[in-house]
Amino acid sequence: MIYWINILSDFSFINVPTFWVVIGIVFLLALFSGHYLEGQRNAEEDLKEKAKQVKELEEINKEFQQKNRELYAKELELTMANRRLQTLEETKSKFISVTTHQLRTPLAAIKWTFDMMAKGQLGEVNEEQTKFLNNGLISTNRVITIVNELLRVDKMDTGQDNFNFKKTDLIQLIKGVLLELTNQAEIKKVTLNLAFPTNGLPEIEIDENRIRIVLENLIDNSIKYSPENGIVDIQISDDGLNSGEGSVKVSIQDSGIGIPKEESDRIFEKFFRASNAVQKEPDGSGLGLFISRDIIQKHNGTMWFERLDDGGTKFCFTLPLHQKKV
Ligand code: ADP
Repeated sequence: MIYWINILSDFSFINVPTFWVVIGIVFLLALFSGHYLEGQRNAEEDLKEKAKQVKELEEINKEFQQKNRELYAKELELTMANRRLQTLEETKSKFISVTTHQLRTPLAAIKWTFDMMAKGQLGEVNEEQTKFLNNGLISTNRVITIVNELLRVDKMDTGQDNFNFKKTDLIQLIKGVLLELTNQAEIKKVTLNLAFPTNGLPEIEIDENRIRIVLENLIDNSIKYSPENGIVDIQISDDGLNSGEGSVKVSIQDSGIGIPKEESDRIFEKFFRASNAVQKEPDGSGLGLFISRDIIQKHNGTMWFERLDDGGTKFCFTLPLHQKKV
């Protein structure tokens, strides 16, 4: 008892304000330690959350690597398929080149034999025989055209399609093509008319051989798809000479079978032949217009066709006078 009194008397220096200060400090310490503990808890939760995110990221990464591997495999597959396709393309090209070159010489011989016989140069032939020989000549010409078209498309596909632009007299070129096709038109009794500006035309920068192919194809089609005694009008117009860059327009109009409206959109497609054409002329490749439009476009011109009210067709193309230097 005496001892406790001593202790209390030892603390007697603690007056009231000091007591409250001590209480305050204790309170603050408790408060801070509470905050500290809560902070610790939050940090731990943060850490857990981060660890979860890291795990998720690792999962995503794994998935990504898997997808990457799959993509790489697909790319490899595609490269192999591409290589196979290239080999096939080369084989096809070689096949076309060899067969068409092998076909051209005998076909030319057959053509000239038919021609000479039909003209009576190998002995007299009567009217009926002449008719058969002329049909043989037309068919041979068609096969020659198809062979040439196959070769041309192959050259287009393989990029061996260089153009040689030179100033050319377009009217003379068209007259030459008409002369070539006279025989064919006569056999079918189709009249070919040519109209061109009386003042002539300035020389035009074209690849003569390619534009000859276009003209042959369009005029040949107009004869082929015309009935007997049909009329084909070929017109060269200089209306565009003074416009912008200056151009000429050529149109070939026939009174033939026409192009069915519902098939019009496909006419310039590779290998496309309209149903009425297939019926009328089983021989045909559907390549002529595809090639012709490509040639005109490579001259920076345009090609189109118009369906005529009376059932015929008008094919037109424009050619600029000059080719832009690149
Ligand atoms: P092909 O004449 O060998 O079939 P083209 O490429 O020259 O091939 O022509 C494609 C198609 O366009 C023809 O099959 C035909 O349906 C149509 N066509 C072309 N020219 C004419 C024309 N003058 N009159 C009617 N149809 C035509």
